[in-house]
Amino acid sequence: MDAVSTDPCDQHRYRVLGVGVDACRDVRAAAIGLHARGGGQIVTLNAEMTMTARANPALGAAIAAADLVIPDGAGVVWALRRQGVRVRRTPGIELARALLSYAEAHGWNVALIGAAPEVMEQLKRRLLEELPSLRLVLAEHGYQAAEAWPQLEQRLLSLKPDLVLVALGVPRQETWTQRLHAGQPGIWMGVGGSFDVWAGVKQRAPEWMSRLQVEWAYRLIQEPSRWRRMLSLPAFAWQVLRRGERRR
Ligand code: UDP
Repeated sequence: MDAVSTDPCDQHRYRVLGVGVDACRDVRAAAIGLHARGGGQIVTLNAEMTMTARANPALGAAIAAADLVIPDGAGVVWALRRQGVRVRRTPGIELARALLSYAEAHGWNVALIGAAPEVMEQLKRRLLEELPSLRLVLAEHGYQAAEAWPQLEQRLLSLKPDLVLVALGVPRQETWTQRLHAGQPGIWMGVGGSFDVWAGVKQRAPEWMSRLQVEWAYRLIQEPSRWRRMLSLPAFAWQVLRRGERRR
């Protein structure tokens, strides 16, 4: 196994089925360190996204170029463990929430982009109740008309937020972020369905399901239309076993 850095910003990139993912001792510290170094893109990688990235070059390129790729799913953690790399799973929703709290405490400017219009309205209300000092400089839903996007993007770029959370679904949130964040300060992060959960529209799987690593089953019950996408999970496991990405 590679030597482990003792640097506080300790981050080492490994590969799962050819897709990069970082091991860090403290993911929150790594994210805040990224902000201090001038910002960048954070990707939250799970098994489904790994398989999508293998088939979608734009997503693969966005992940490869990201500054921090965190192991968001149990499948990715398992695949890393087979290589002798032990990492703690870091759900993106938890890191994003920790960053919002940090943003409130440190006067960061925050932008939220994505989710349905009514979800965004509810989210703004809830967040400002829970984090009353949060400096929310932009909060726009993700179902804008095509002609509204360029103006929204210009507004976002001119605000130069410290934290931009993007809920547009995979792979759009990653490719959109990759296109926009270059040269911008701040942390840009795709957060999938987090806005729906924070707004109270969807529930996260109960703790016991996460522990048993069957969160996917809960998601399937909540959103049965995802069944086809979820076929990528056994395909991911099969590929990992077949390729035998093992401890060197
Ligand atoms: N979303 C959006 N605009 C779109 C498509 C999706 O704002 O054109 C939002 C959707 O409402 C949800 C979030 O993106 O809040 C994540 O969607 P999904 O759960 O499908 O994402 P994934 O599982 O791919 O992360």
